[in-house]
Amino acid sequence: MLSEVKTFQKEYMTQFEDLYAYSYEEGTDTERFLALGLLLRRYYGDRWKESVSEYRQDKKRQVYYFSMEYLPGRQLKSNLLNLGLLQTARTAIDGLGLDFDQIVRAEVDPALGNGGLGRLASCFMDSMASTGIAGNGCGIRYRYGLFKQKFVNGHQIELPENWLRNLNVWEVRREGKAVTVRFGGTVELVPNADNDLKPVYHNTQTILAVPYDTPQIGYHNKTVNTLRLFSAEVPYEDETAYQTPQERNAVKQITEVLYPDDSNYEGRLLRLKQEYFLCSAGIQTIVNHFKGLKLEWSEFPEKVAIHINDTHPTLCIPELMRILLDDEGLSWEQAWNIIHKTFSYTNHTILAEAMERWPVDMVERTLPRIMQIIWEINRRHYLIKGALYGQDIAHKTAPVIDGQVQMAHLAILASHSVNGVAKLHTEILENYTLRNFKLISPAKFNNKTNGITLRRWVMLANEPLSNLIDQRIGKEWRSSPKEVSLLKAYQTDKKLLKELLAVKKANKERFAAYVADQMNIEIDPNALFDVQIKRLHAYKRQLLQALHIIDRYWRIKEDPGSIQQPRVFIFGAKAAPSYHYAKEIIKLINALADLVNNDPEVSEFIKVVFVENYGVSLAELIIPSADLSEQISLSGKEASGTSNMKLMANGALTIGTLDGANVEIRDSVGEDNLFLFGLKADEVENLKASHIYHSADYYHNNPRIKRILDTLIDGTIPDIEEEGRDIFDSLVTYNDEYFLLKDFDSFVDAQDQADLAFQDPHEWARKCLLNIAASGNFSSDYTVLRYAKEIWKVDPGLHLFNIQDFS
Ligand SMILES: *Cc1c(COP(=O)(O)O)cnc(C)c1O
Repeated sequence: MLSEVKTFQKEYMTQFEDLYAYSYEEGTDTERFLALGLLLRRYYGDRWKESVSEYRQDKKRQVYYFSMEYLPGRQLKSNLLNLGLLQTARTAIDGLGLDFDQIVRAEVDPALGNGGLGRLASCFMDSMASTGIAGNGCGIRYRYGLFKQKFVNGHQIELPENWLRNLNVWEVRREGKAVTVRFGGTVELVPNADNDLKPVYHNTQTILAVPYDTPQIGYHNKTVNTLRLFSAEVPYEDETAYQTPQERNAVKQITEVLYPDDSNYEGRLLRLKQEYFLCSAGIQTIVNHFKGLKLEWSEFPEKVAIHINDTHPTLCIPELMRILLDDEGLSWEQAWNIIHKTFSYTNHTILAEAMERWPVDMVERTLPRIMQIIWEINRRHYLIKGALYGQDIAHKTAPVIDGQVQMAHLAILASHSVNGVAKLHTEILENYTLRNFKLISPAKFNNKTNGITLRRWVMLANEPLSNLIDQRIGKEWRSSPKEVSLLKAYQTDKKLLKELLAVKKANKERFAAYVADQMNIEIDPNALFDVQIKRLHAYKRQLLQALHIIDRYWRIKEDPGSIQQPRVFIFGAKAAPSYHYAKEIIKLINALADLVNNDPEVSEFIKVVFVENYGVSLAELIIPSADLSEQISLSGKEASGTSNMKLMANGALTIGTLDGANVEIRDSVGEDNLFLFGLKADEVENLKASHIYHSADYYHNNPRIKRILDTLIDGTIPDIEEEGRDIFDSLVTYNDEYFLLKDFDSFVDAQDQADLAFQDPHEWARKCLLNIAASGNFSSDYTVLRYAKEIWKVDPGLHLFNIQDFS
């Protein structure tokens, strides 16, 4: 270790000076980080090369995971951990008189995703490498990530996040692997010498897709996979086609920004172009690789498994059809057969507003050949499915309905596997949303409950907890996450429970220091830290928690002493810039924070902290400090959730509805170790169907609710005239679409239970321990192993995993 540290220091100093021509002592933290990152490339370069060449030589089946979003977080510590170099690097860097943790924070956190869907893709990339699955990620290298959020007078404003302004040390530009993507123009089918119809294109626009590759380093194994992100550029050979700056900018624009809408369909032309750009570039890369293997086309599915993360990459399907038909000369039947064996699809939502549909004329104008192929898929669908199941079912499941391309229908019809992301979500898909598809192809449907990588969310985010776990049960849990359940045996070990509380306290102090420094708010690490961090969305019901805070405010005001347990209410959430209602809720919570935090009578018991710019790095800081995890979506609306898993793994107790993966969390940790409340999914459905819910009755008949809602409009909370009125109206006048008032009393009861439980630190710590012990089930290592076994049919590198472990 000592000599390793010395070597590392020497290499680091050389690296720094080669790069900047002055000593590391004079550098900035960013420069120190960049030198460290570049040095690391030498430590994984060989393994990366070997993994790539091994996959090529063995001609193994490889997985290609297509996602419009990734949220990888900072890579430095993660790469060091997986390479087994974290301690070496820390000791070496600190030994040079630098601050390792400060250098770590100088790395930008690439926000190439909105929320859960993007973070899942990144957890999967880490887990595929760590389980030795030959998995490639395909995505877009957005020039600007998700906007940077600031609060001005409590309102969200959005600023551009120029994450590439410094060198990105992890990526490698692969200009030699660039491909061209065609847009627009017209296409006619002309018979060739064999009398086959071949497309001839006129006036199309050709754009270069340049790949940038980032290594995905497996944990303590030899695997280094590739995340390939494409950037749009003007083709070098065809530069005269783009003569004005406007024309050249229009090309670059395709990969300029990430659409900031989470769970919301954005029907704009540029987004359609982005989707096709990713699909065409990715599919061409796969086809080029496959052609290098010199095999028959019928063997394509044996070498390639393509997974599409939600419907955004659905155009991969007609794009591969296009190449097989037009360029490779396969028959429709041959090509469709290959498609079906190759593709699988994950559905992430049942929210109607998130279902992608593109107007036929827009697709026609932008991607004329792709639209022809979709029409032919549609024609054959009616022919075959109509004959088998009748015209009504064929119509309801068609790829094109009422002049709109139904992306989910196309994805389902073409894929051999369709999965939901939690038990309840998959059931709702099968029984309601997608029941007609379930009818025509029942065997396609399956569930794969989401997961999280414990490496990032526990080992890196919470080193003190990880060390404590190591001390008690050894380190096996680090490569076999289910082993963390051995902790259960220590639930009566007073010493451990005390140590657990001490770790939590230290993490709370760390977050409190951040809040004091960044927000100038003092919070007490002894208070209960109550955390709700996720995108702002009406169905996630941040407003329900705000109403609960207002309730506490009045309880304290009217009867001082009635609330005994001090709490810090912590929020982190970005709202889509166009989502007016979500932004109003941000303003409400910020105004409430001002009111509560500055009223000495109240602030002793309630503090409200809404952190700016929530993202992966902030999540890593907040989650280890949480006592309570708010998972309070209206039942039936949250597909899975993953922050629920991260918080549980860090010893926070869940307060939640039986929604998404909260159901599996309940099953895994036991009913006594979380706080459940509210309507169940079937009760929500029945209540909706019966039309007997009148939210105004709750306002008029429940004095507590009346008091709270009046607070929104009577000036108690300063500066929210418009917001307060709109929110009041949504709850009272427009019948409270997400049943907040219906669930309110039950929610407050559960919150009071949580207060009570928190007053017994020993018992609370025992529940924390049981939550941590149950969290191994939610490791994304197991999730990807289930995908590998049941969907992709690829073998993991089983040197670390017992196959029994995950089935
Ligand atoms: C995990 C994560 C999410 C997903 O949170 P949910 O509560 O499951 O919606 C969103 N954003 C970030 C930055 C995350 O790390």
